[in-house]
Amino acid sequence: MSDNLPTFSRFNVGEGGSELECLPYGVHHGDEGVCLLVRMGPHRILLDCGLADISQLQSGLKQPLPADLVLCSHAHPDHAKSLLALHHAFPLLPIYASEVTTRLLPLNWSDIEQIPQFCQALPLRSPVEFQSGLVAELFPAGHLPGAAAILLTYTTARRSYTLLYTGDFFLSNSRLVEGLPLEELRGLGPDVLIIEGSYGTARHPHRRSQENQLAERINQAIAASYSVLLPTPTLGLGQEILMLLRSHHNFTGRDLDIWVDGTVATGCDAYLELLSHLPASVQNFARHQPLFWDERVRPRVRRLQMEQRRTVGKSPCIVIADKTADLSEYCQPDTGPWLILLPEKPGHAVDTDLHTVSPLSSLRRTSVETYLLAQHSDGPGITQLIHNLRPQHVVFVHGSPTYLADLTSLEELHNRYHLHTPAAGTLVELPIGDIFLQPAAPETNYEGELNELGTVVTITLPDAITADPRWRSFADTGLVEAHWQGEELVLRGLSQRELLNQNSDRFISADLNCCGTCRFRRGQRCGNPASPLFGFKVTPEGYCPAFERLSEEPSGDSA
Ligand SMILES: [Zn+2]
Ligand SMILES: [Zn+2]
Repeated sequence: MSDNLPTFSRFNVGEGGSELECLPYGVHHGDEGVCLLVRMGPHRILLDCGLADISQLQSGLKQPLPADLVLCSHAHPDHAKSLLALHHAFPLLPIYASEVTTRLLPLNWSDIEQIPQFCQALPLRSPVEFQSGLVAELFPAGHLPGAAAILLTYTTARRSYTLLYTGDFFLSNSRLVEGLPLEELRGLGPDVLIIEGSYGTARHPHRRSQENQLAERINQAIAASYSVLLPTPTLGLGQEILMLLRSHHNFTGRDLDIWVDGTVATGCDAYLELLSHLPASVQNFARHQPLFWDERVRPRVRRLQMEQRRTVGKSPCIVIADKTADLSEYCQPDTGPWLILLPEKPGHAVDTDLHTVSPLSSLRRTSVETYLLAQHSDGPGITQLIHNLRPQHVVFVHGSPTYLADLTSLEELHNRYHLHTPAAGTLVELPIGDIFLQPAAPETNYEGELNELGTVVTITLPDAITADPRWRSFADTGLVEAHWQGEELVLRGLSQRELLNQNSDRFISADLNCCGTCRFRRGQRCGNPASPLFGFKVTPEGYCPAFERLSEEPSGDSA
């Protein structure tokens, strides 16, 4: 660590030069976790502490404490696992997180009996002044219940400096946590954005299709008399999969046992304690049936006892276990065959070799596959967030170096922002220009979200859609009509006029852009090779982006 000392001492001086600096102790390029020291004027703020050990924070200290305060983004170990050690080493160092995070944090030290209540809860969306001129505010970040993006504001007589740290973030809604509400942060214009880049520029299928793929694979395995073993972290993915299995049409009502083992079961208990903080749709679900432990409603969700591990796979079932568990305990020679499903790890090949999956390679009749059920935003989500925030500096952390390099080489980013991908121990100076003229953000496609829970389907549209002047006439009557058009579901608003005309033939206004007024309509079918609907039967009120208006003269080419 002696290499770092010049940087450290310089950082601790904090005089002259720029008002903002970031010294990363850990950037999570591999498995080292995130820990970032940020200086804003005289204030030193430590963001997350996911290091394996805190020796870096203890060595060469010129002041009694390594920071003035600590803010933790969320309860995952790569952001939080050394907070307890930090508290023991520096009991006077104040540590803060969202309320839900403070309640999930103890799961990081499940082997310790008495964990002091060392982390203080901060409310969401309310600025808190910690020291004169230093304010912090938390915003929900998606990804995991309690996960927060942290906005720091440092105010001098001359101007204010702002820094937003995303922690881990996810724009999409998951089953148990709503996505980062982009509209709350749009146009924020922080001077500095520190953002995670886990998935680099990768583009993911829509969350719904990721879920369906996983559900379908599990379904096939059970049908082929396999048991399915899903090793997951304590918090997040395991509970998401449970919720998915409980509400997916492939599984609802099926005579099937889903067993939950180890700390994942403890994680479920922790979620149950936090029910009032979970999305309204989940609270509604929980009013009709238990969220997790349920012996009555099929598929049954049950807590696995240690002595059941060796026998549970004698008939096909699903087991959700700790990712650190010895999987051979479940895959016994006298059980049925097993399918082990491992989550894909962005930027790292997942080793599906049985010898490394289980130390005892006695796993006969066992196969290993991977699946994607992302908990972080993909490349388009990352760039979407950046363009919506419009910072001067973007600091990428949390991702493999190659994935982060993919992001910094994107023209749409390096043309507009100062980009940084620091290694651990490298000081990043963040000079802030008084006048920052930024080119406009590129046009983006806005995607909506589909949520299906029980019999209710909710479609969430981004506010860019609803802010459009066309939304007014679309939503005029509050009624929509939905119908299938080939493989696509078409939604259209019903106008007052149509409601009045409901008893007569369906009314197609001549100035409506739809198949009924499109020059490529041939009889009841689409005749435009450029359209996704080409050759399909279309209804007059259908629409696709290849629409072209029928000329004013009646065209004679409809033969
Ligand atoms: Zn996380
Ligand atoms: Zn993380």
